[in-house]
Amino acid sequence: MSRADLARATGLARSTISQRVEALIAHKLLTESGEGPSTGGRPPMRLAFNARGGVVLAADLGATHCRLAVTDLAGEVLAEQGAELAIARGPDEVLPWMLDRFDELLQGAGCTRAEVRGVGIGVPGPVEFDEGRAVSPPIMPGWDGIRIPERVHPRFPVPVLVDNDVNLMALGEYGAVWRDQVEDLLFVKVGTGIGCGIIASGRVHRGAQGTAGDVGHIQVSDHSGEVCHCGNVGCVEALASGSALAGQLRALGLSAAHSRDVVELARAGQRDAVRLIRAAGRRLGEVLAGAVNLFNPAVIVIGGDMAHAHEHLFAGVLEVVHRRSTPLAARNLRLVASSLDDRAGIMGCALGVLDEVLAPSAIDASLAQYTESGK
Ligand SMILES: [Zn+2]
Repeated sequence: MSRADLARATGLARSTISQRVEALIAHKLLTESGEGPSTGGRPPMRLAFNARGGVVLAADLGATHCRLAVTDLAGEVLAEQGAELAIARGPDEVLPWMLDRFDELLQGAGCTRAEVRGVGIGVPGPVEFDEGRAVSPPIMPGWDGIRIPERVHPRFPVPVLVDNDVNLMALGEYGAVWRDQVEDLLFVKVGTGIGCGIIASGRVHRGAQGTAGDVGHIQVSDHSGEVCHCGNVGCVEALASGSALAGQLRALGLSAAHSRDVVELARAGQRDAVRLIRAAGRRLGEVLAGAVNLFNPAVIVIGGDMAHAHEHLFAGVLEVVHRRSTPLAARNLRLVASSLDDRAGIMGCALGVLDEVLAPSAIDASLAQYTESGK
């Protein structure tokens, strides 16, 4: 749009539009993108959102591996890196490591610290969202009560968003693929553990204490007293997660240390692996049938390592979901594998940060600062 188009569309005075546009250009959020068609006199200058007017840092910290990225203001990845990193090494080791990788990635993308507008971090445990504080995370020893933004601010004094990794994966998948089509979606991560991110009416639903979607510890009926690390028996995570399946295969004498080994065996056609993944799908299906009856999602997206064996996993899930869910809730339900795969988390980090730093109130606040300082 040109300045004249904006004045027509908003009904604001040309002078008001000009003043605002100059501030946004100075703030690198708008750019003049060339001349539009002339209607007689001098052709009007077109304005466009300046996606390269800053960058976002994203870190998806999983239990055993992580992915980090620098994105532009449209969420496009400019540089990224995956690495093996155990979250259990604790915040004093993990967070400085992460900040150093951010600096390397910035350098690789040809950017400076001053261009960073926000940081998004996903962690594999419950988070008190407003404070970015990890709360009694079972697989993150040493992180309880740590306010993560405080550790990031000395190097990057910008808004820092911290959330549970599965919530961010749900947000990433929703924002990149589904936002224009549906409002209610479940993202189920089946990897070392089992967790679920809930998008309700287009927004992440975190619940009263931030633990909504913690489906891994729902009990399934088809169990033989297997003890979960949470202390209960028969949790779906203790029976149908990648690490549970690896254990079941080891008990049969096969070599499987992690979920990825399970997937490889199934892909190679190993019959026990295929059989056990289908059984895991049915157990997961029992939990999801309950979720479907409770929440009536339009789409269930399955992510995490086990999604790579989705043809076997989904067969079991669908069998039970269709038998156990109410017909109306299941009729148009779609079950799909994550299309962003191991990028869902960093995409969610970036989109979550961008929703915050590009919100009208945030832009107003930063422009007010700009005007006051007279720069
Ligand atoms: Zn449990």
